Amino acid sequence: MMQYKEYGMTGKKVSAIGFGGMRFRKEDYTKSLEKCAEIVRRASELGINYFDTAPDYCNDKSEDIMGIAFKNLPNPFYVSTKSAIWNEKTADDVRRRVDKSLKRLGVEKITFFNMWCILNMGQYKKVMAPGGPYEGAVKAKEEGLIEHIVFSTHANGEEIETIVNEGYFEGITVGYNATNFAFRQKGIKAAHQKGLGVVTMNPLGGGIIPQNPAFYSFIKESKEDTLVQAALRFNASHKEITVVLPGMGTVEEVEENVKAGENFGEMTDEKIALMSQKLNESLDSLCTGCQYCKGCPKDIQIPKYMDAYNMYILNKKPGAIKDRLNFHWGLSKEKASECIECGKCEAICTQHLPIVERLKHIASI
Ligand code: SF4
Ligand code: SF4
Repeated sequence: MMQYKEYGMTGKKVSAIGFGGMRFRKEDYTKSLEKCAEIVRRASELGINYFDTAPDYCNDKSEDIMGIAFKNLPNPFYVSTKSAIWNEKTADDVRRRVDKSLKRLGVEKITFFNMWCILNMGQYKKVMAPGGPYEGAVKAKEEGLIEHIVFSTHANGEEIETIVNEGYFEGITVGYNATNFAFRQKGIKAAHQKGLGVVTMNPLGGGIIPQNPAFYSFIKESKEDTLVQAALRFNASHKEITVVLPGMGTVEEVEENVKAGENFGEMTDEKIALMSQKLNESLDSLCTGCQYCKGCPKDIQIPKYMDAYNMYILNKKPGAIKDRLNFHWGLSKEKASECIECGKCEAICTQHLPIVERLKHIASI
């Protein structure tokens, strides 16, 4: 049976595993949104009641898919969607966005509305500025269109702690997994202590965890678990974490993921310390493939180059970068040398990676 947890102080009981609506497959949603909606319905049948979506996900189709599914979900549900400062800069923009999301989702109110992807304190200030996005969300809440205003972030632990302590939000959506946990632990502890719900996205580290079974075998506590289930259970077993949010694109993925929400122990500080030791020097240093660094002025496909560098970190073999670039991505190492060190990507990298230095390393192999 799926386990449920209290979402902060909202009075809502949510499933330990939530449905991430960012991984519907292009070959499916270009043919039939209804086919994707079936995946959402199966999740509801199996006990998931927290559904996360956003404008822009899956070529802007995710909210539409959810809307189709919500028309006849077998069980009661909560929906989370978002507004991003790069799309909605003012209170009025956000207010319009809420109307659009409500229409697409076919619901009367949005349960959790995320101020999306606050990367650092500068961005937080812009979100909170007079006439800015947060004000629009408050207005929609006063009108009864939003139940809870929350935020999603890739900021580091200290910054999250500061935002949480300012007290404007009822919950947080944050990237957390067996790769980056030390980087974010302070933040989720602060949020939990303050009584916020904590939703963790990217629990599989952008696929890195299941793709590297030997490296991540330390997270498996039961032989029966797949590595995906072990990674989800790793998050779910934290008392600070309310919902684990894997992206799901097939019914099979739903069925595999829900099992992780059926039984899990408790993550103790001792266990965490042991895992930190095992990850040791590669901790915090992996690219999670979140794609926020897209848009390099020299058209360098940074996430793919950083993914190749991940292989080097994980395998410790110098040839790993070249193999990954050539055979997996079809890219050349020479392109990495075109970096002009403008710093744009490093300023927004959610993992705070030394991208420029890594590109230099790649160019030199
Ligand atoms: S620092 Fe280099 S890789 Fe990063 S955005 Fe600028 S040119 Fe592109
Ligand atoms: S380099 Fe940073 S921002 Fe870019 S995909 Fe990797 S983790 Fe995300």
